[in-house]
Amino acid sequence: MNEVAIGIDLGTTNSVIARFEEGGVRVLENRQGELMTPSTVALDPDGGGLLIGRPARELLALHPGRAVGAFKRAMGSDEQFSLDMRQHGAVELSACILRALREDAARTLGTEVTGCVITVPAYFNEEQRFATMKAGELAGLNVMRILNEPTAAAIAYGLHRLDKESKFLVFDLGGGTFDVCIMELFEGILQVLSTAGASRLGGEDFTRRLVSWTLREVGTSFEQAELRDIAALGQLYKRCEMAKRKLSDQEDVEVIVPRFMDLLDRDVSVRMMREDAETAWEPLLRDLAGPTRSALMGAKLDPSDLDEIILVGGATRMPAVRRFVESFFGRQPVESIDPDLTVAHGAAIQAALCLQDAAVEEIVVTDVVSHSLGVDVAREIAGRPVTGYFSPVIHRNTVIPTSRTEDYYTLHTNQRAMRFGIYEGDARRVEDNRHIGTLDVNGIPKGPAGQQVDVTFTYDVNGLLEVEATIAGTAKKFSRIFSRESKTLSKKALDAAAGRMSKLKADPLKNPRYRDLKLRAESLWKDAPESMRAALDFALISFDEALMTRNAMSIRKAFEALEKECDRFDGGERW
Ligand code: AMP
Repeated sequence: MNEVAIGIDLGTTNSVIARFEEGGVRVLENRQGELMTPSTVALDPDGGGLLIGRPARELLALHPGRAVGAFKRAMGSDEQFSLDMRQHGAVELSACILRALREDAARTLGTEVTGCVITVPAYFNEEQRFATMKAGELAGLNVMRILNEPTAAAIAYGLHRLDKESKFLVFDLGGGTFDVCIMELFEGILQVLSTAGASRLGGEDFTRRLVSWTLREVGTSFEQAELRDIAALGQLYKRCEMAKRKLSDQEDVEVIVPRFMDLLDRDVSVRMMREDAETAWEPLLRDLAGPTRSALMGAKLDPSDLDEIILVGGATRMPAVRRFVESFFGRQPVESIDPDLTVAHGAAIQAALCLQDAAVEEIVVTDVVSHSLGVDVAREIAGRPVTGYFSPVIHRNTVIPTSRTEDYYTLHTNQRAMRFGIYEGDARRVEDNRHIGTLDVNGIPKGPAGQQVDVTFTYDVNGLLEVEATIAGTAKKFSRIFSRESKTLSKKALDAAAGRMSKLKADPLKNPRYRDLKLRAESLWKDAPESMRAALDFALISFDEALMTRNAMSIRKAFEALEKECDRFDGGERW
């Protein structure tokens, strides 16, 4: 039987599943016949079973204690959500959503679904990515790849297939969050240049402003209404949500304000013009500028340097948001795919790529490490060792996948063992960073202080970290794949991760193409007159430096530059 793999956009408010089929991407319907499944879990008040999606969201409005939503924000943390007296973590709740999505996909496709690609925000750290993978496993899915949402959006628009160099920005305004991500495409490699965002700014804030505006129109306020009649407020919120959506297509809308205990003794109709709404949203529209500007600053780019602007998230349908984007960037964004479904589209294409050919993996992977990863060390201060300092092995913003090595030394004579604390963060002192785990090294040969241990960190695209320590001059190696929850990752998944990582550690210097080009350049250098040697020398050194970084993008750029230099010498331009 053919393997069937799907793409899953596991969103804070809504989730979407899609599959790449002949002729394009098909977004799959859920059991309610809808394309978007609210990421909400509830306990059925009648039967005690689980409700997922729209029925759960409806229950959330009526019985908040029996339903939970927006738990994606707690991924990777210990936060617990109470569902009818019992406590549940975000991984468990996400697994419920994923299981339902898997069943829906199987029902719609008429076949079991085995593999999937799940998307996460670009700023998710290693633990949040791991938690997402774990949720997929719990749901019985084989998670082939954790993919960044903006990367998925770029794939959906086929930007990964362009052969020119391009830079683009993904502007993602969802229900509760705003994310901006700038990416660069070079020779088929997509790299995140910068990310910025606001974790509490989204479509829901726009709806809330409309609720306040409407209440003011009938002579009261949000605060008053909240105190007096929470149920009526919930109802008004729903009506304003509908009104907001209508205002994306029409100039005005009627909102019926329900009777509010003590405040309003009957239903009152209020006419809301798009202009009223946009005036109420002005502060929110202004708030979109900050993260947009910081993403540009982070990537050291001007709006005019960008080739495309991609809109993602339902809230980008608002004409006011589009106008903001157009005036900020001075151009129209691309928008041929429904902004709610773009990420799932990209995930589905990536799932198909993963299935068809492992070699395609090379095409669309790179991201940056959002927080440095390293070990704790002692530093000598006034002649005495002081422990607790952070020594990064992989620095923040390093392109992943990556593998880096640092050397560390014993502090004492005849020290036979070392314990490395592994941390994530960017504070000088380890106590201010996040502790990931420890790696013990034993059997260091007796000798004076200063025995060398090489520590290699390998970080893959799924955010799994392998730490390997080798006692210099011996074959003794100690290694572990890290995550707070690595104990619970199945043996199979751990083995597969270790296999993938061993490829990352492969020395790029051993790549025959790289070695041949270096030999060619060195032999040309031998024959070149002094005046011509400098350019070749520079290109060779740059290539060596790029190989040391193990950064795929830098290696490719330096490779091309060196090749060009060699061709120039080999061609008529010699001497
Ligand atoms: P997402 O998290 O991407 O599903 O975004 C959902 C958000 O998009 C919600 O806040 C919706 O209110 C908003 N949204 C969806 N459709 C529209 C529309 N036609 N006009 C305005 N906002 C919309």
